[in-house]
Amino acid sequence: MYILLMGPPGAGKGTQAERLVEAYHIPHISTGDMFRAAVKQGTELGKEAKRYMDAGQLVPDAVTIGIVKDGLSKPECKQGFLLDGFPRTSEQAVALDATLAELGIALTRVVNIVVPDSELVARVTGRRICKACGATYHVSFNASKVDGICDKCGGTLYQRDDDREETVMKRLEVYHSQTKPLIDYYKTQGLYTEIDGLQAIDKVFDDITASLRSNV
Ligand code: ADP
Ligand code: AMP
Repeated sequence: MYILLMGPPGAGKGTQAERLVEAYHIPHISTGDMFRAAVKQGTELGKEAKRYMDAGQLVPDAVTIGIVKDGLSKPECKQGFLLDGFPRTSEQAVALDATLAELGIALTRVVNIVVPDSELVARVTGRRICKACGATYHVSFNASKVDGICDKCGGTLYQRDDDREETVMKRLEVYHSQTKPLIDYYKTQGLYTEIDGLQAIDKVFDDITASLRSNV
């Protein structure tokens, strides 16, 4: 299963990815997670990426395409993967096609989680993430049982630096100008499915798995 998960910031990609990778036993390739890991480790990549992330902008294509290419070329991606947050520009989409062709892989499905902007700001500003295991919560819509503590591992929950309101508005603007146009690109490839992301988390998951079953 080679899945590409698309959608605006806050649509629920990470939330669904956590479940999908468990259900299908495939690696989760998230460019956002890769950049955050590099920031945490204080690498040169992390230092460069942080400047763009904090400004709500995209990390340059040359950098992003390189790390995805390396990730997809790993042996564990041979049998499948879930790509989350990439591609976000038309250059990235073209580079992804070339990389997949080199690896002899054809995408199974492109799943786009659709949520209106009015809902996204509340979702992103209320998002909390576990420092230890990366699990995603929301202060109102998907709260942990104990405030600030991860249900799964007991780790501490934190708010991403780029999840404050000013940065979220910029990220939405970038999404509309650079990433949303990719929907047409994937529609023409015939693999595209839209999922209503306003539904409850379990229902979104059921709709995604139903769409994946219909194509394999
Ligand atoms: P993305 O990875 O697309 O940026 P996330 O999966 O991190 O989005 O979700 C953004 C926020 O919205 C999180 O706080 C998450 O708990 C919450 N969320 C995700 N899916 C839903 C949903 N279907 N309904 C309500 N809140 C949701
Ligand atoms: P995400 O975790 O997907 O919300 O991504 C967080 C931030 O990482 C984005 O706002 C960008 O700054 C950067 N980023 C993640 N994926 C990409 C990508 N495919 N291209 C460029 N920048 C990215």
